Amino acid sequence: MDYERERMEMVRQLARMGIRDDRVLAAMARVPRERFVREQDRDIAHGDHALGIAEGQTISQPYVVARMTELLQVDRTHHVLEVGTGSGYQAAVLAELARDVVTVERWPSLALTAREVLAELGYDNVTVVEGDASAGYPPGAPYDRILVTAASPRISPELARQCALEGRIVAPVGDEDLQQIVVRTGDGTEMSYGAVKFVPLRGRAGFPP
Ligand code: SAM
Repeated sequence: MDYERERMEMVRQLARMGIRDDRVLAAMARVPRERFVREQDRDIAHGDHALGIAEGQTISQPYVVARMTELLQVDRTHHVLEVGTGSGYQAAVLAELARDVVTVERWPSLALTAREVLAELGYDNVTVVEGDASAGYPPGAPYDRILVTAASPRISPELARQCALEGRIVAPVGDEDLQQIVVRTGDGTEMSYGAVKFVPLRGRAGFPP
């Protein structure tokens, strides 16, 4: 399988689907997505669909990764929090664009695997933390950008407080079945950008187990 060719085709497809930010497309052209999926799924890693990973969780579909990253408006000066490491793929895309990334995962096995893959690929600006980040991760705050990659009942005031004044939070907000991508800016304004379906955020400020 020629993964590089698959990746370039994925990026061209994302551009055709409306992703306009060249920096996001270039970042996704650099991250080897096949390294973040189960071994038996490597050949279908670049299709525009979510895939199952361990612990009943998912790696998000490329379009959703691209769209949420585009909406986050990350640059090289930014200190970024991701809630929901999963496979570590989204963290790698963010690491291509940001100064550094703190990513938190509640399943120890997923945090461990993501940490190993990200280290093997040389992403030394990513810190993978194990724990419940449904209300954020205060030790690393304030963050310039916060990306939540699990379905959230709302953007909690506690999470909002961890975002810098000029910051931006992007999260899938709704019920457990369907969410809207919500962008919250520093003045507290929230705007919606289309429907998505994520696995739920579990924990103190998420959905009950
Ligand atoms: N961003 C991931 C990727 O690139 O593979 C996909 C994330 S997956 C859709 C959502 C992840 O959020 C799951 O791995 C899940 O275990 C995690 N999660 C759910 N609730 C959490 C919480 N309270 N704190 C941290 N992670 C959580």
